Parts: sequence; structure tokens; C-alpha cells
Amino acid sequence: MKGGKLIIFSAPSGSGKTTIVRHLLEHDDLNLAFSISATSRPRRGKEKNGEHYYFMSLSEFKNHIKHDDFLEWEEVYRDNFYGTLKSEVERLWAEGKNVIFDIDVVGGLRIKKKFPDQTLAVFVKPPSVDELKIRLKKRSTESDDKINMRVAKASVELATAPQFDKIIKNYDLDTALVEAKELVAEFIKSDK
Ligand code: 5GP
Repeated sequence: MKGGKLIIFSAPSGSGKTTIVRHLLEHDDLNLAFSISATSRPRRGKEKNGEHYYFMSLSEFKNHIKHDDFLEWEEVYRDNFYGTLKSEVERLWAEGKNVIFDIDVVGGLRIKKKFPDQTLAVFVKPPSVDELKIRLKKRSTESDDKINMRVAKASVELATAPQFDKIIKNYDLDTALVEAKELVAEFIKSDK
């Protein structure tokens, strides 16, 4: 597998990485396409199959693992598997796109390791773990239990930040959006 560039945004849940990724996708000059991940977690709110995720059962997901269909996969939360299908990246590269990922820190670093030269790995840093909790509660898409599980994981995830190519502080969303656009535009222009 080789092709265009890969742009990874990783961060603890609630850091705002999804908002940043959606914003970048609106810039046609960046020629980005979103890598739709596969997941075994249930659909949330208005999420659509084949748009936000490829939703599948746990056994379907495990079958893909068995057939080595994933570029990377992770049991991000218990029984909630997430993964990037090789076929997804190949599909987007065939369209001549640069691929952008919204994935967890372990998956992000794994892809960076596989494609070191063509990947920009960005970590989005929230102001604090307390602030993360407030943001997740405001989003109110999950139960308190699930929110606590995500917050508990955040400290471990924050410790991986130095392994990324770049860190964007999302203390103020508008500033983070401008910074993200500049970083990605520069990487895409470079000969790497
Ligand atoms: P959510 O359930 O909030 O959509 O996602 C939970 C976490 O899983 C987020 O950190 C998200 O970025 C991550 N994630 C989504 N897709 C993938 C993937 O394909 N691989 C990995 N490793 N993590 C993913």
C-alpha cells in the first residue's frame, strides 16, 4: 500500500478533534477525504452507516480482524472495537485524495509507524481533564458511566502527546481551527 498523504487527528474523547476534522474537510484546496472507520459500538443519535462509521456487529468486526482486513484496529472501550479498513484507505487514495483520520491515540501512532514519511500525526490537547468532562456532559450523547470511562482514559491518552508530530492546544476553538488549517496546508504542500 502506498499513495497520497495521511493526516491523523488523535485526542481524548471530547477534545474537539472531530470538530477540527470536519472543519478541515470543508476546505477543498486541501483535497481531503475522511477515512470512515469500522466500529462495533452502537449507533449514536443521528449517525449514519457509511457516513460516520461502518457499523457492524462484534462478530463481523472480529471476522475482519481474522482476515487481516484492517490497517489498524483497537478495542478502544470494552467490547467497542474501532478500526481502519485497508480497503477504505485504498478507495480514497484511488480517488487521488489525501486521507484524514479521526482515531484514537494508539491507532494514530500505529498508522504513523507504518507510513512515517507520508503521515502527519496531530494530537489535539484539551485545557484539562475537568474541562473534558464538562464538554462530554454538554454533548449529552452518553450515560454518566460511559462519560466516566472516557474521562478515565484521557489521562493515559494525554501522556502520548509527545509522540505525535504536532500538538494543537484546543483551548479556544477558533484559534485551534486556524492553526490546524495552517499545519495541514503546509504538510500537503511539502514534498514529503
Ligand atoms: P466515538 O465512540 O466517540 O465515535 O469514538 C471513540 C474513540 O474511538 C475516539 O477517540 C475515536 O477517534 C476513536 N476511533 C474512531 N475510529 C477509529 C479507528 O478506526 N481506529 C481507532 N484506533 N480508533 C478510532
